[in-house]
Amino acid sequence: MPIPRMYHTEAIVLSRFELGEADRVLTLLTPHEGKIKAIAKGVRRPRSRIGGAVEPFAELELVLARARTFDVITQASVGHAWLSLRDRLESTATAWYLAELSERAVEERAYAYPVYALLRRAYQLLDDGMAPTRVARWFEFGLADALGMRPEVERCVECDRVLEADEEYRWVPVLGGTLCSRHPPPPSEQMPLSLNALKLLRAYRRLDIEAIAGLRLPVAVEAEVESALRRFIRVVLERDARSLAFLDEVRTPRPIRAGTT
Ligand SMILES: [Zn+2]
Repeated sequence: MPIPRMYHTEAIVLSRFELGEADRVLTLLTPHEGKIKAIAKGVRRPRSRIGGAVEPFAELELVLARARTFDVITQASVGHAWLSLRDRLESTATAWYLAELSERAVEERAYAYPVYALLRRAYQLLDDGMAPTRVARWFEFGLADALGMRPEVERCVECDRVLEADEEYRWVPVLGGTLCSRHPPPPSEQMPLSLNALKLLRAYRRLDIEAIAGLRLPVAVEAEVESALRRFIRVVLERDARSLAFLDEVRTPRPIRAGTT
């Protein structure tokens, strides 16, 4: 049986670029078709039927026609808009960061349902007002897991010994997680890890995000885990995320100028 030319899918926009006078090419994440590139023709014209629908941070309902280079979007509607997510700059910047990680993690036309489900839930959580930094860490952990590279936070990556509370640990992303104190620090990129940071990493592994959201945590411990997971993701995806610079910029508190009221 020939593959039908038209198909329907849910999709989340990961990135987009303008093409020609009025078209836009979208990179989409879908539950069953994986990552696809699709063209929205005439979308930048004011009277475009699909223009308003094909925006990021929404779950879209699309009908597409298969084509040689880019599939063509023939119908679009918003299935689920996460409008509150856009109210805060940090949530929006985090949403772009998660979209970029998803785009890099998934191959075109490859099975990607776990990543789709993860991104969908992350956007829902951001929209619900959960702290963006917790959502981002939960997503990073889940993404590594979905790619079969879950960080090891229970045992030593070298000797497989269960990590005890009264020792020192190192975080070594290229080895897959935590290294115990019995081994010399490796030449690869690594950082010391405090017991509290290890506990928080374990919480990300064991607990649901709703439980993690309720934890009261020292800023320094959150910062340590952020650094550890970002380094881990850099190794998993083999590069830095471009959107991190923007995210860090919007999170930096503006200096208060002396002498002004
Ligand atoms: Zn060890």
